[in-house]
Amino acid sequence: MSLPGRPEGDYRNAPHEGSPVSAAPAAGIAGRIAGTVRADIRELAAYPVANAEGCIKLDAMECPYELPEAVREDIARAVRDTPLNRYPAADLSALEQAVKAAFGVPDAADVLFGNGSDELIHIIVQACCNPGDAVLSPWPSFVYFDMAARFDHARFIGVPLTTDLTLDLPAMLAAIREHQPKVVFLAVPNNPTGGLWSDEDVQAIIATAPGLVVLDEAYQPFADRTWMPQVLDAPNVVVMRTVSKIGLAGLRFGYLAGHPAWIAELNKVRPPYNLDVLTQATLSAVLRHKPVLDEQAARLRADRGPLAAALAQLPGVRVFPSAGNFVLARFSGKLDGNAVHLALKTRKILIRNFSNAHPLLADCLRISVGAPAENAALLSALQEILSA
Ligand SMILES: *Cc1c(COP(=O)(O)O)cnc(C)c1O
Repeated sequence: MSLPGRPEGDYRNAPHEGSPVSAAPAAGIAGRIAGTVRADIRELAAYPVANAEGCIKLDAMECPYELPEAVREDIARAVRDTPLNRYPAADLSALEQAVKAAFGVPDAADVLFGNGSDELIHIIVQACCNPGDAVLSPWPSFVYFDMAARFDHARFIGVPLTTDLTLDLPAMLAAIREHQPKVVFLAVPNNPTGGLWSDEDVQAIIATAPGLVVLDEAYQPFADRTWMPQVLDAPNVVVMRTVSKIGLAGLRFGYLAGHPAWIAELNKVRPPYNLDVLTQATLSAVLRHKPVLDEQAARLRADRGPLAAALAQLPGVRVFPSAGNFVLARFSGKLDGNAVHLALKTRKILIRNFSNAHPLLADCLRISVGAPAENAALLSALQEILSA
């Protein structure tokens, strides 16, 4: 896979200034790498992040709105008064209380903080899985479930969705019985499809799973449903959330809520000081303005329906129902998914192409809901592209 904005070999083969690199050591390095780095890692490409300079960015489910001046002033003050010479404090209870209050975590539950929920996913797999143990998720879903499981020596099982991209419950239950996964990840709503699995289906999975079920609510602020109030109802459930999709993707903060006994075990694997003091200070300041985050999420949620409806009006476009701040659309008119993606890119509009990611996602593009002007620009570009 080529990485946009980072030509292949750019940094790896760059000779050190003033020290010409001879071929002999380079060959030596390749041999050492081949004999040292895991084969499955050598075959991978690094997680692709597109160069977005000067583009309309609708590819990563970021919130298009910047925080208001008053909030930024508060952040500036909090950061200025944060000493950088000391490690982060051991006692995070003040921030834990603030997070629990802001996000409706039940009093009796504990929370675990991560450097983004990506880190929490690793912590869960590392704490639960011996090498070769199964980690299971409906598929396609969040790619990092698969990546983290592999990196941490677990065996990833993706259970295909139906052709309508809904949950195949009988297949899920059969796979759980067969593979006895230590961990089941359920993104509710699901990324990249946008679907929200029914309560009954989720309950059936929780009741059948022998190990831990992680309900990943990254997109919960855009949905009608949350499992947070019920996180203590079953003996094998934790709820994972992130602030990335509600305006703070740059901050890298995720949290896991669950029974104190589960959180205590997972906490043992957490890298010490994983939440740096600047993130802590910034988050504390932002949470004093929580209604600002809620209002931004409400705007995106309100704009999702009209965007989806307008996309569905385009020739040859099928839009899948979404409960997130994005919509997945299949392009099967004159131009296929790859061609539409490229045509938009040429017009400096970035969306995410899943055409080649999985057979169930053939010709599918994922579009984040942007600010109204961005959505309008996308729609008029698509109109032009599809009628050419
Ligand atoms: C974006 C996303 C996350 C990642 O969140 P970070 O906190 O930014 O690491 C987790 N789960 C799903 C399903 C996502 O789409």
